[in-house]
Amino acid sequence: MSTLLISHPSFLEHDPGEYHPECPDRLRAVMAALEDESFALLHRAAATAATLEQLQRVHPENYVEAILGIQPPAGELVMIDPDTAMSAGSAEAALHAAGAVVAGVDAVFDGSGIDTAFAAVRPPGHHATPDVPGGFCLFNNVAIGARHAQAQYGIARVAILDFDVHHGQGTQAVVEVDASLFYGSSHQYPLYPGTGSAREHGIDGNVVNVPLAPNSGSGEFRAGWSERILPRLDRFAPELLIVSAGFDAHKRDPLAQLRLETDDFRWITEQLMSIADRHGKGRVVSALEGGYDLEALAAATAAHVRALMRV
Ligand SMILES: [Zn+2]
Repeated sequence: MSTLLISHPSFLEHDPGEYHPECPDRLRAVMAALEDESFALLHRAAATAATLEQLQRVHPENYVEAILGIQPPAGELVMIDPDTAMSAGSAEAALHAAGAVVAGVDAVFDGSGIDTAFAAVRPPGHHATPDVPGGFCLFNNVAIGARHAQAQYGIARVAILDFDVHHGQGTQAVVEVDASLFYGSSHQYPLYPGTGSAREHGIDGNVVNVPLAPNSGSGEFRAGWSERILPRLDRFAPELLIVSAGFDAHKRDPLAQLRLETDDFRWITEQLMSIADRHGKGRVVSALEGGYDLEALAAATAAHVRALMRV
């Protein structure tokens, strides 16, 4: 049993502009935290770019072409929406972010002894619907990974679990029309993007949303997962778990008002690992989403990856 860390230098070249919270320093903070000697046993790999075929399992061809066609000159930005910008390096980063999750899926199925993977990526993905980018997201990295598992390895049931403080409406848009997928999310509500009420339940409950009021903390978070999401996830019996690992529900985060402690990210990871052990041979592929306080991001990512490594 071992854990693979996947990243790529292109993630530092996606620069949405000075003062943007989704900044290259986020990835530097994550990678620095994972340089600690307690991570010496991590296997490490560089992502390859996702192929057009892999991207088009989630996004229409004209959407993929439009995103990849946005190539501003160095030093300039193209605003996709008021929050989401592309720089000269963004298209290449987005290709490798999706490719990193695909590589994680390949690693847990190729028989090489990897059972869990963490894709340290930018840009994030869970707000990208099949045909609308936004919320700092260009391609839906986790949905592309889920489709890859189904298409390449014949996996019948893939679950995507999302503890980012924002609701992943882009991921939900993919899952809520397809009973071979499951989406469980806890998030602050109300908050951007405005979706994620408990009434949104997909096909026969394959979407489970746990909206949390501002100022909710560990108790509400753990109760929501324990009572609402984890029992449904267990019944779904996923052969693969993919995690949208956002760390912006941490109490230090400046973009939202939940009050999670660093240890809550260890706890939720261990809960997900036990379901993966029961139904999916321990296979978990996790991808970085949000998290905007660099100190909290580094600490919470370290707690998450330690749990993936079972240390
Ligand atoms: Zn977020």
